[in-house]
Amino acid sequence: MLVAVVGGGPAGMAAAVAAKNAGADNVLLIERAERLGGVLPQCIHSGFGLNYYGRDLTGPEFAEYLRQDVMQSGIEVWLNAMVIEAHHDKTLVVSKPDGISFVRADVIIFAVGARERPRGAIAIPGTRPAGIFTAGTAQYMINVQGLNIGNDVFMLGSGDIGLITARRLTLEGAHVHGVAELMPFPGGLARNIQQCLKDYDIPLFLSHTVTEVLGKDRVEAVKVAQMENGYVVPGTEKLFPVDTLILSVGLLPEAELIKQLGLTILPYTGSAAVDQYFQTELPGVFVVGNGAGIWDLVDNVATSASVAGEASVKQFYEPSQEATLEPCGDIRVVLPQRIAIGVNNPPRIWFRVKRPLGVCSVALTCDGKTIARKGYASLRPAEMAEISLKLEQYNVIEPGDNLQLTVTPL
Ligand SMILES: Cc1cc2nc3c(=O)[nH]c(=O)nc-3n(C[C@H](O)[C@H](O)[C@H](O)COP(=O)(O)OP(=O)(O)OC[C@H]3O[C@@H](n4cnc5c(N)ncnc54)[C@H](O)[C@@H]3O)c2cc1C
Repeated sequence: MLVAVVGGGPAGMAAAVAAKNAGADNVLLIERAERLGGVLPQCIHSGFGLNYYGRDLTGPEFAEYLRQDVMQSGIEVWLNAMVIEAHHDKTLVVSKPDGISFVRADVIIFAVGARERPRGAIAIPGTRPAGIFTAGTAQYMINVQGLNIGNDVFMLGSGDIGLITARRLTLEGAHVHGVAELMPFPGGLARNIQQCLKDYDIPLFLSHTVTEVLGKDRVEAVKVAQMENGYVVPGTEKLFPVDTLILSVGLLPEAELIKQLGLTILPYTGSAAVDQYFQTELPGVFVVGNGAGIWDLVDNVATSASVAGEASVKQFYEPSQEATLEPCGDIRVVLPQRIAIGVNNPPRIWFRVKRPLGVCSVALTCDGKTIARKGYASLRPAEMAEISLKLEQYNVIEPGDNLQLTVTPL
């Protein structure tokens, strides 16, 4: 039995190790870069691994721990190998330095990560000078390539990658003039707002956006204004004399390969619908990590990908034996979106909310009937929360049920 894992980031490595430990004869890990680790080698700050390894690690350290697990498990690793096509019969076409290879797998686990939303996707008016970077690219240039990307910086979007990059730029001697966030609440985790902005006196402008970029060859300034109901509030525009604009406006799952398989792409995750094993509607094809939906912490990525790796060697259920699950109201995203029935495995349901909520109650319902309920002291859009079903709750779900996850403020 061959399990092919596409992508050697934390999700791919964790899934490959779990598949091998669960008894897969052959596991092939295919990574397009020259090393394993995915995004982690550029995340040189700490805060990784607390749940997965019980230790506070930096990104490169976490990647190295996982790499050691891969090496000790006897997994075959192809580096500098990019999967360029995926076929319905589970054949992968791989481009390598020595030519094209065809891999006929029994199981494919896609762990291809996400890409950053670029400027074109958010249509900021103004000129097209140099000096505009996405946060992840800026982080890579500073931490891996050792480059200075700018001296006076403004940031659009308060996602975690941007917050961490704002702190890194400050430590490197740049002046970060501020962070504008379109929403009335921050996009990143509370700990990053404190540790990356407040601790360094970097102002956060909520309900603000960049309305214009100025400059001919290089960014010379940005205009920032307050927004209300999608419109600029007159008289609130400010000019920031910066040479660099960084965009931290979200990630989108890489879905090109799974689209080739004809899988339905959900509009609210940008990826295929998966069950509690992260298996898609095509038996034997799994999608994990940021490729399945955007996770908050890499520990959750590795933990969930291990579930898929372990399941990849087990017998597959009949695709018709399933219920569906959708987010409702203030729930923005839910994972899994399908629930396999009759497999004696109550799902762990992961979700994100649309807006910050105080004390609240999350309910899993079917036709108005509550199957499970859990209370939370607070929920934040930046955090992935979870609700684990008990066996007796799972057992009342029937094939064909349309389940909904809702949240009620208390
Ligand atoms: C810039 C940035 C900073 C972050 N900082 C933090 C943080 O501080 N703390 C935290 O907990 N999380 C952080 N995260 C999130 C964390 O890094 C991700 O959750 C995690 O890396 C996702 O793992 P992944 O394996 O799904 O994707 P990735 O790490 O992106 O790995 C995907 C891998 O797939 C490979 N790949 C893609 N397509 C192909 C193909 N066709 N063929 C072969 N290989 C392919 C890629 O080269 C890559 O190595 C950050 C993420 C980013 C983007």
